[in-house]
Amino acid sequence: MRVTAAHPEGLPTPPRHVAAPSSPAVSARMARQGRRDTAPELALRRELHRLGLRYRVDRALPGMPRRRADVVFTAARLAVFVDGCFWHACPDHATQPASNAAWWREKLATNVARDRDTDARLTAQGWEVLRFWEHADMRAAAGLVEDAWRRRRAGLSSSGSPSTRPAPGEPAT
Ligand SMILES: [Zn+2]
Repeated sequence: MRVTAAHPEGLPTPPRHVAAPSSPAVSARMARQGRRDTAPELALRRELHRLGLRYRVDRALPGMPRRRADVVFTAARLAVFVDGCFWHACPDHATQPASNAAWWREKLATNVARDRDTDARLTAQGWEVLRFWEHADMRAAAGLVEDAWRRRRAGLSSSGSPSTRPAPGEPAT
């Protein structure tokens, strides 16, 4: 099979015949990876909306104009990602295509390394990062997002930005 369709990031789509997804549903999910507004993302956003949370979608991250989080709470500095099982190498559902195996292994390893780098850079800027696999229960995921958002919001409103708040025991300067 010749793969010519472009991934949004300029990558070829995975060769589906060698990815051996375990079911038609997984195959369909995998084919959507790398795009925004995947079904799991929409499910999470629906649950967040139901909880009364308001958020931004598919936003560039601070200091990383080419990287995006799926759901962003800007004021709370909370970034939420719904990671596709194929593209982000979920331990339960990751598949290694047999064709061009070395290229795919490198590609997927690069994705994972970039995820960890994104996490580190956000954390260094005072952000909190929540990641969910696309196979997660999105209602439960939304509950965890809400908990984090409430905690962040309470921390921010008590004495301003966390980056300017003195640590406990330190004098305010
Ligand atoms: Zn998975």
